Amino acid sequence: MSFSDFHGNTETVRRLRDMLGRNRFPHAVILSGTRGSGKYTLALMLAQALNCLARAETDGLPDFCGECANCRRIAQSADFEARLAEAVEAREGLREADKKDTRLFVQTHPDVLIIPPDPPQNMIKVDQVRRVIETIYYRPSDGRERVYIFTDSAFMKEAANSLLKVLEEPPEFATIFLLSENPGELLPTIRSRAMIFPLGALPAEDVDRYLAKQRPEWKAQQRALVARLSEGAVGRARSFDVEAYVAARADALAILNSALLGGDHSQLFKVTESYRPGAEGREKTEQLLHTLYSLLHDLMFLKSGAEDLVRNTDIQSQLAKMAEAVDFEWIAIASDRLAEVERGMRRNLLQSLSLDAFGLGLEKAG
Ligand SMILES: [Zn+2]
Repeated sequence: MSFSDFHGNTETVRRLRDMLGRNRFPHAVILSGTRGSGKYTLALMLAQALNCLARAETDGLPDFCGECANCRRIAQSADFEARLAEAVEAREGLREADKKDTRLFVQTHPDVLIIPPDPPQNMIKVDQVRRVIETIYYRPSDGRERVYIFTDSAFMKEAANSLLKVLEEPPEFATIFLLSENPGELLPTIRSRAMIFPLGALPAEDVDRYLAKQRPEWKAQQRALVARLSEGAVGRARSFDVEAYVAARADALAILNSALLGGDHSQLFKVTESYRPGAEGREKTEQLLHTLYSLLHDLMFLKSGAEDLVRNTDIQSQLAKMAEAVDFEWIAIASDRLAEVERGMRRNLLQSLSLDAFGLGLEKAG
């Protein structure tokens, strides 16, 4: 591994490496970007570069070797979901009294601490920041730099205030990374003490090229579809469940077609019947709603003559036929009703009932 394994946002990566090379790396860095844009991957790469025992240069800029003891131990945190699941499981195994006082961390290197949002509220808690304060003023033991990576920017109030105190007087040998989908939710006083580096969306063609390497088993058509649906985030593209999406889309098309054709409702009921209440059904229904939105967007693009924006490119001719059968008002009504179904789901209404109502209601509107 090296920085050349990071896809896209080359100018941002170059600037960060340049600061590393000039020993001017900031004490607090906000990496902002959508889910899957590479914030965590990049923070971990920088943690390696800050601590690599055999730091080399590539393209005239500092790089990490990926081989030395520090690089390897930090890289063990690369599969964040797996490490987090282990930490959650370890806590579950504790006695009830200890569970309450145990906060979640991911740590595979003594000088690199990863701080995830703590469930069930999924926010950074004051006890987690306290752990940062307890360790940050000690010199690193195995590396050159203590690194702290907050994987989310949702802080409890007290936690944010504690972090602010650290940022006011950070030690020479520590770097704090704040990963954020929305830096606006951080305290302005925290933002002003950190340098913000946005990770932008990649063009669909770049994501497609990336997938050709990472997902060689996918057909070109699947790659093109995922490249468009992942909205320029390679992490999202890499882990995209294309089969689940296509299955949900078949159901979404059946619901929309039933509304457009009218008459016999057996097809509609057959589809909606398979959406059950409960945790598992909820996820499936959310996927369906998400897919319905994506189809309605595509119908809108087709009606507006913006074919190049269509995301479900593999069924474009089918969508073009549907687009001819509907008008803008129908699409607007469908979007409103879909929002109603979503609200109903939040209040735990029976899902198949509200999906039926959605399909039948659109028929009358058509
Ligand atoms: Zn190394």
